[in-house]
Amino acid sequence: MLATLEIEKTTVQQSRVTDVDFTNLKFGKEYSDHMFIADYSDGEWGKFRIEPYDLLHLSPSNTVLHYAQSVFEGMKAYKNPEGDVLLFRPFDNFLRLNISAKRMCIPELPEELFIGGLTELLRLDKDWVPDLPGTSLYVRPFIFATDEYIGIRPSDTYKFMIISSPAGGYYSEPLRVKIETEYTRACEGGTGFAKAAGNYAAALYPAKLAQEQGYHQLLWTDARDHRYIEEAGTMNVIFKIDGKLITAPTNNTILKGLTRDSVLTLARDWGLPVEERLVEVQEVIQAAREGRLEEAFGAGTAATVAPIDTIGFDGEDYHLPSVETWEFCNKAHQELDDIKTGKAEDKHGWIYRV
Ligand SMILES: *Cc1c(COP(=O)(O)O)cnc(C)c1O
Repeated sequence: MLATLEIEKTTVQQSRVTDVDFTNLKFGKEYSDHMFIADYSDGEWGKFRIEPYDLLHLSPSNTVLHYAQSVFEGMKAYKNPEGDVLLFRPFDNFLRLNISAKRMCIPELPEELFIGGLTELLRLDKDWVPDLPGTSLYVRPFIFATDEYIGIRPSDTYKFMIISSPAGGYYSEPLRVKIETEYTRACEGGTGFAKAAGNYAAALYPAKLAQEQGYHQLLWTDARDHRYIEEAGTMNVIFKIDGKLITAPTNNTILKGLTRDSVLTLARDWGLPVEERLVEVQEVIQAAREGRLEEAFGAGTAATVAPIDTIGFDGEDYHLPSVETWEFCNKAHQELDDIKTGKAEDKHGWIYRV
């Protein structure tokens, strides 16, 4: 199937990769030599091409600039000890991109376009996949509307693109998070389950307020009563209370994270009890007060797992035990890193070799 995707390639004269300091990577600052592009018009995807990474030429009336008809994915490529490029669960990213696209009236992408574009781009830019511990190549597929039209309606034309950026560790220190009880990320019937561009713009202001109060991120709660914990910033959130992992079920308002699913799968493999159910703010605060909140962490591709050592609620900060002592979170992080870099057995068929 992949062989049917004909991609026109224009490659760079000289790679910029030698200018990159892979020992000191800042997230999202540098982009690899090439980008993949496909155009949608007259009801189908075509003009598959790889070009040198460069600026785009857009009309000021481009509909996406005004109404955010745009969706994206985030994934990471790693190198195994043999130097092969590996992707973690790309077929799941593909399925989710189409779920997001449907909600935003964006036409579906065929699997061979997503996987084929990804494969060819990563083969060409394989020298951009770092192999130092904790590093990877962050890969960003996205689709956006391109009609030159400022009326509000679904666009007739779109671009699907893939760019990539070498990445080191994401959060270096344990997170301080604030339980948000005023603003909302997602509501029933809304777009919270989709990686839709506008969701992230809407979350900036409440996150900024929390940062001004000394927190890194928010713990989002349900829109109706602010009674249940939903996500941590742009990550899913998992708690370990009384020896059990507890996390909210993914639904309308909670994005179905692959890291979350992978962490829960490892926990079940290891015989740890897992509860996917509503998580009350009060339950977490009570557990923290009584020293029963053993671990808390965000789960997402960018950070893998991001330990939370402080939770702010109602003007008070609750502290967790020192992160070095967290057995599960540290073990899951290590195991996921080892699977992604081909050092541990891939029992669940998560790895795709480019
Ligand atoms: C991307 C994302 C996640 C994490 O998903 P992964 O597949 O683990 O990367 C969680 N929540 C939100 C809101 C996200 O955008």
